[in-house]
Amino acid sequence: MTETDEIKRIDQLREELHLHNYNYYVLNAPVISDQEFDRMMRELQDLEARHPEHFDENSPSVRVGSDLNKNFTQVVHRYPMLSLGNTYSQAEVTEFYDRVKKSLNEDFEICCEMKFDGTSISLTYEDGKLVRAVTRGDGVKGDDVTDNVKTIRSIPLVLHGSGYPKSFEMRGEILMPWDVFEELNRERELREEPLFANPRNAASGTLKSQNSAVVASRKLDAYLYYMLGEDLPHDGHYENLQEAEKWGFKISHIARKVRTLQEIFDFIDYWDVERKNLPVATDGIVLKVNSLRQQRNLGYTAKSPRWAIAYKFQAERALTRLLKVTYQVGRTGAITPVANLEPVQLSGTVVRRASLHNADIIASLDLHIGDMVYVEKGGEIIPKITGVDLASRPAGSEKVIFITHCPECGSKLVRYEDEAAHYCTNETACPPQIKGRIEHFISRRAMNIEGLGPETVDLFYQEGLIHDVADLYDLKAADISRLERLGEKSAENIISGIARSREVPYERVLFALGIRFVGETVAKKVAKAFPSIDALAAATLDDLIHVDEIGGRIAQSIIQYFANGKNREIIERLRKAGLKMEADPSLTAAYSDKLQGKSVVISGVFTRHSRDEYKELIERHGGKNVGSISRKTSFILAGDNMGPSKLEKARALNIPIIDETRFLDMINEE
Ligand code: AMP
Ligand code: ZN
Repeated sequence: MTETDEIKRIDQLREELHLHNYNYYVLNAPVISDQEFDRMMRELQDLEARHPEHFDENSPSVRVGSDLNKNFTQVVHRYPMLSLGNTYSQAEVTEFYDRVKKSLNEDFEICCEMKFDGTSISLTYEDGKLVRAVTRGDGVKGDDVTDNVKTIRSIPLVLHGSGYPKSFEMRGEILMPWDVFEELNRERELREEPLFANPRNAASGTLKSQNSAVVASRKLDAYLYYMLGEDLPHDGHYENLQEAEKWGFKISHIARKVRTLQEIFDFIDYWDVERKNLPVATDGIVLKVNSLRQQRNLGYTAKSPRWAIAYKFQAERALTRLLKVTYQVGRTGAITPVANLEPVQLSGTVVRRASLHNADIIASLDLHIGDMVYVEKGGEIIPKITGVDLASRPAGSEKVIFITHCPECGSKLVRYEDEAAHYCTNETACPPQIKGRIEHFISRRAMNIEGLGPETVDLFYQEGLIHDVADLYDLKAADISRLERLGEKSAENIISGIARSREVPYERVLFALGIRFVGETVAKKVAKAFPSIDALAAATLDDLIHVDEIGGRIAQSIIQYFANGKNREIIERLRKAGLKMEADPSLTAAYSDKLQGKSVVISGVFTRHSRDEYKELIERHGGKNVGSISRKTSFILAGDNMGPSKLEKARALNIPIIDETRFLDMINEE
């Protein structure tokens, strides 16, 4: 890589890692495995070390990650909660050991323990009582989740025995055991709620629940692994934990004090295998210098203690045979290839299927039927195939060639430019697409039709009762109640659920139609810009592209949707059935005509309203919001940090600059 390539790569990694960080810590929904995340972070750190001139104080490499949630009070940690330096390499464990030895220049013990894969917690005890439980947050301050933590039975609220310090802190990991996690996901699946990707996300998601009763019902567990404070009973970390156990804390018994590197590696090797039998998820081993005095001597870097390191296990991987590849057709017609495998045990569950994502991935793996393949569980629930053991490929085996025609309806698949997936475009006659669209239409965030679910949709489709979403409104209770599985009562429920959906506002109807790329947020924007379905149907590509945040891809898709006669027909039937095809007028009604004929440019950062709100205010008072300054601009609504080039242009053209307070006065005065 050249200098400029490296700088580009740094920027790219920062951007991606920020996003992954957000997915992981804020949304609790990682899209890549921890290992991939760590690898990217490592690459970034290496590149940043080579380019100190490209330092950025907000780089993802300088922070510990944040799980701050606005609804909890934030508390500053008495002692910062740092991260642990971590590695996948035994050579780096050796380096750690040698560094400690050299710095201390005296005998030392290392405490080897499991790295539990949950969410960390800081517990403060005063006079033997739990007074506060705080999440790690950004390391400096975290969320006060005391009420929730109090529901976790293995965390003592009042300590036993005596001899504990007047005030001290315990740190540990809150976990959701495997069996609880699997049960929870089974229930969520039944209720059609999104599944948790792994026990870690389930634990941290639960801990952030606004309702501590929910927390209580989720059966979380906790292991405490570190004691902090001024007057602790012992100088040894391990010894303090033994003491803590007597006071009622749950301490892991998988901990061992050792002196040599060999003993460390023996511990690692043993537990890399044995951990598969533990009831909770683990992702590595933590090594800690045992003496607290020695820990203080070694100190901290900005991010982590110098006296500890985490050795992470390779993601668990299994080798099994590829039996065949099948193809699923989604609601949008996207084709997902699925590997059907000889059942194999992996991280506590039996794996039979793995996602192959798309044709490119199949080609790059050079998959053949009968191949022995490596399966891994990353951050996702569905395992993936990461490699092929070429040495054991059966002679004359058949290469996996991506299908050319839809497995459900037989029509020819297409692949759009810039997209990895293949699509079946036979929207109106391909069964999984029809059923998928109906399922989307009735779902909670769309028309929210109670009483109906994927199974009933499937049944009605099989029975010939529905072929499209408009058919729902022609259903009669009698049609339904004669079906074997449904009684009169549920038939009535379904009919009244469908009837109630007539009240769903226009923007959600728009989302429910399932126009490709028109998700919830886009639907809202579209509904605002085109307050009736007729206005939208009449819009040109140009009209659409001029709406904020609607790009060519979305615009094109909307045009295509309305170009299809079948879709227009369905809309007409839905309109006749009484669905809302127009926005509630109060949402767009004019407030005044104070800005009539004015064209206004918005620039800078505001404090009293968001940019979007100002835009709306301008329009509702009869003005027009335009993007760039010209002679025709009436004035500029300027916040802080208005761009210098805009400022210059405004001055050159002598255009008035108005701040937000003056603007608000202007539209509010009688
Ligand atoms: P990382 O999040 O990869 O930086 O690893 C640090 C985290 O490992 C800590 O914040 C703890 O939540 C977690 N952890 C799990 N088990 C242990 C343990 N035995 N000792 C210290 N930290 C642990
Ligand atoms: Zn098809």
